[in-house]
Amino acid sequence: MKKVERTVSSLKAFLEQEANYGISEYFFPEDLLNHTLDKTRFFSSLEEKLRTCKKCRLYKDAHKAVVGEGSLEAELMFVGEGPGREEDSQGRPFVGRAGKLLTKIIEAMGYKREEVYIANVVKHRPPENRNPNPDEIKACMPYLLLQIKLIKPKVICTLGKWATKTLVGNEEATISQLRGKFQPFTIIDISPAIKIMPTYHPAYLLRNPAAKKEVWSDMKKIMQYLKKP
Ligand code: URA
Repeated sequence: MKKVERTVSSLKAFLEQEANYGISEYFFPEDLLNHTLDKTRFFSSLEEKLRTCKKCRLYKDAHKAVVGEGSLEAELMFVGEGPGREEDSQGRPFVGRAGKLLTKIIEAMGYKREEVYIANVVKHRPPENRNPNPDEIKACMPYLLLQIKLIKPKVICTLGKWATKTLVGNEEATISQLRGKFQPFTIIDISPAIKIMPTYHPAYLLRNPAAKKEVWSDMKKIMQYLKKP
């Protein structure tokens, strides 16, 4: 087979695999096409793109898209479910009560909040904080996968049931069965491999403070893996 045919055939296989995960649209800003990828510029174009995103109905009731924030070189990424009221009004992830608790957890692990990256499965607030619907998650998935591809963290800590279901892809297991055990991230081929650590959502900890010790034990596993003193 000629080189060009091989390239077309592997591109076709790649696109088919991505389509299986619901990815049918690609976002290529100028600098990516010109091979001069500047992550900061890329993330601001992503932000612009999200501001006008109408791929699902969530934009209708939301005030601001919440893209994510933190270091684009982070070794550790946190992924929550979707913005709440405070996040929707500020356009920043995890800034409400649950967010303050998440910040404390991050700092207790020895990081500054701005040294990790924080994102959500859906970027617009679901009305009345309802759970995101499967079609909304699917519509938003390419954005999250792009963030993961560009940041390439060593560990993704999924906060709660929705982020865990979405990124671990195990529909049957509950969060209490999955938490505390590293799971492989297999949705996209990425090297070096990324590990997922599912844990409870900080909003759950506000309602059930007794579960904090389990979350702390999960965080210690991440710290040990990342050799964080
Ligand atoms: N809960 C989430 O899942 N994400 C946020 O950004 C805030 C609260």
